[in-house]
Amino acid sequence: MLSQSEIIENFKKIREQIAQAESNASRPSGSVSLCAVSKFHPIDAIYDAMQANQFLFGENRVQEAYLKFTEIANDKTIAAVPQLHIIGSLQLNKVNHAVQIASCIQSIDRVELLKEIEKQCAKQNKTVSVMFEYHTGEESKSGYKTYDELCETLSLCKENAFPHIVPNGFMTMAPFTEDERILHASFAKLRTVSEAAQKQFPELSLSELSMGMSNDFKIAIEEGSTMVRIGTALFGPREQ
Ligand SMILES: *Cc1c(COP(=O)(O)O)cnc(C)c1O
Repeated sequence: MLSQSEIIENFKKIREQIAQAESNASRPSGSVSLCAVSKFHPIDAIYDAMQANQFLFGENRVQEAYLKFTEIANDKTIAAVPQLHIIGSLQLNKVNHAVQIASCIQSIDRVELLKEIEKQCAKQNKTVSVMFEYHTGEESKSGYKTYDELCETLSLCKENAFPHIVPNGFMTMAPFTEDERILHASFAKLRTVSEAAQKQFPELSLSELSMGMSNDFKIAIEEGSTMVRIGTALFGPREQ
């Protein structure tokens, strides 16, 4: 595990690189938010990140996230309670815990998930935001595969079938490659899908584009990302 000062230094470096990429793309400074992916890292890494003023985290396994983030939520000494986004594929039987700890679930890939989230949110009397994960590259397996299927889900949201759920955008994972053309194409695809969906469903507010990880976030920002999800470049290689 990296030391606290190394982690703080990494946050400084990555924030500078995000700012540079925003500027290179002629985008307003601050238009891209940083979701720090703390999966597989111990709770101390999250505390170190909070020392670097980071209060938005991403985790992909609910069980692991639940342990860490309930402990943090119960810690009366912290300055602000961090927000957690679930970014990994989610099983129905994990939704209960996911809703307890997360403010957003970025990995919606089927309507059954929304039904279960709605049920759990109603029970817990809370609201969560969601993003729709879209499949944009041959190698990634998760996410909606077709625009039509996505629109079926969005229609239900439009008809207010899920009053405790606030859709706010889209998420994708690019294929694992260094080929910049493939990365550009993957991110551009999500942007195109999001523009089409926003046009088709003007009553929804779908402005978030969660795309870009440690090795491809600069390209994602060029293609319009509003949120990058970065793990390794901040916390080092994952433990385990
Ligand atoms: C692990 C993960 C990330 C972060 O990946 P890094 O390469 O470590 O930056 C981002 N998004 C999702 C969905 C992930 O599972």
